[in-house]
Amino acid sequence: MRKSRAFLALFLAFSSINGVSFASDTIPLSCANKKDYTIRISNVIKGCEKTEYSLGAGAIPRSMTRPNTIDKQLIYRFKAAQAAAKKDGQAIYIASGYRSLAYQKSLFAKAVKKYGSEAEASKWVAPPLVSHHPWGIAIDVNYPDEPVGAGWLEVNGPKFGLCRVYENEWWHFEPVIAPGWKCPPLVKDATFTVD
Ligand SMILES: [Zn+2]
Repeated sequence: MRKSRAFLALFLAFSSINGVSFASDTIPLSCANKKDYTIRISNVIKGCEKTEYSLGAGAIPRSMTRPNTIDKQLIYRFKAAQAAAKKDGQAIYIASGYRSLAYQKSLFAKAVKKYGSEAEASKWVAPPLVSHHPWGIAIDVNYPDEPVGAGWLEVNGPKFGLCRVYENEWWHFEPVIAPGWKCPPLVKDATFTVD
């Protein structure tokens, strides 16, 4: 018991997010008000209030096992972004979020027919084992008709921990950073996804 506590204390004292070390009371944690989704910055020791949803202090990772729904924290991040977009006169919505592995397989099979090869299809629809949609940690926003709102999210998403990922998909966003961090550079398309 003592040992594990000491380990936890050590872990918290030297936590590292995105490769940068922090003292745990300085690791920022974003909290969204449950009613109006306004954001408040706390830290990982203090946590969020009961009246708030935690938006997390890092990227949202893949779960250990395949989920059957979209990640909850991703929804909270999106709702917070949606509330801020509304204030800016922009409407954003999730056109596609969680997809079952079977559905992603059928989407990919259709794309292979359309584009003639798996390699070409992969540029437009991520292969089932690569796609983050079946992991519940990817959303397609305002697809296919409203890129302006998605453009708003591309500019403002980092505050909520949401990033556009692919050069060829203006609609596809993933929670790959802690809220408030900078998004990584875009990758060319789904064939460049490493994992
Ligand atoms: Zn997508």
